[in-house]
Amino acid sequence: MSLAEAIPQGLQAKIDTIIDNVEPTAWLSEAEKNDYIDKIKKLLKAKNAVMIAHYYVDDELQALAEETGGYVSDSLDMANFGAKHPAETLVVCGVRFMGETAKILSPEKTVIMPTLEAECSLDLGCPIDAFSEFCDQYPDHTVVVYANTSVEVKARADWIVTSSNAIQIIGHLKAQGKKIIWGPDRHLGQYINNKTGADMLLWQGHCVVHDEFKLHELEQLMEKYPDAEVLVHPESPESVIAKADFVGSTKQIIAAGKASEADTLIIATDYGLFYKMSQAVPDKRLIPAPTGGKSATCKSCAHCPWMAMNTLVNLHSTLVNMSNTIQVDEAVRQKALIPLNRMLEFSYEQGILTAGDA
Ligand code: SF4
Repeated sequence: MSLAEAIPQGLQAKIDTIIDNVEPTAWLSEAEKNDYIDKIKKLLKAKNAVMIAHYYVDDELQALAEETGGYVSDSLDMANFGAKHPAETLVVCGVRFMGETAKILSPEKTVIMPTLEAECSLDLGCPIDAFSEFCDQYPDHTVVVYANTSVEVKARADWIVTSSNAIQIIGHLKAQGKKIIWGPDRHLGQYINNKTGADMLLWQGHCVVHDEFKLHELEQLMEKYPDAEVLVHPESPESVIAKADFVGSTKQIIAAGKASEADTLIIATDYGLFYKMSQAVPDKRLIPAPTGGKSATCKSCAHCPWMAMNTLVNLHSTLVNMSNTIQVDEAVRQKALIPLNRMLEFSYEQGILTAGDA
């Protein structure tokens, strides 16, 4: 395994600037919230639209998706659900690459989002020009990218993976003797490399949420709750992953929580997941893994600043105006569909996804 150069110069500063300029969301009274919820329910029906929300958006949006016949899940499942649902319009509550993935699988549908400014540091940290130039230097390598990338980066890839199927797909490629370029998340790449021993070149992107989990404070928490099980998303630093009883995707973390016999779970992922987690294990004590403490920065909070940009207010105005439409160039979409379908076929064959999923 070797490392790519650091992400292109200036890119980290650009990501930091974007995060610093994320607008705080407006406070709404309960009466105002209920008013928006009523109006959104009517608009969804009137516009033949369905809400598809990610686990990391705010609880009230997850609840509204569930109440209105929509869906809450991870990014791939969201896109799969949208492709199978009869609604003409998919309202994707999440970040931009999720809207693009839905559009790749459902080109005939209108895909709208509460805001098009909701980004992802992994997507931002892997711009197509720099990544493509990097790939061109290693023409004998198979290019594998995580779902958290732009449609253009997906179109440049041979395979797309998610945190649910990455180990199996990289293992499959290793068995074929392939050398691999991996992008963009360095921690997930390192974790998979440790698990599979594949020959991998790692792009050096990171998730601004998971990168902030802190080993020292996690160890202190584990001392306080010695019987707790620790569930960790693999976008977290290697030192935090090393402390985990279970490592997996959001969906897998929920399943592991259900299967666990422990009364207390310490969870290292965005705290938006706690909404579905508390439905799945209502009798367990759920504790967020620490991002604060002596070794933290003032930016630590375990909640994605871009996911938090999805609100009842902008969801409502998007539905009123049918604005914030996701547009994807058809030639690029066709190219991105190839590695996406490759992943889906592999996942169905291996039983990672079943026909009943989404
Ligand atoms: S939580 Fe991390 S990986 Fe997910 S959208 Fe936010 S920045 Fe991207």
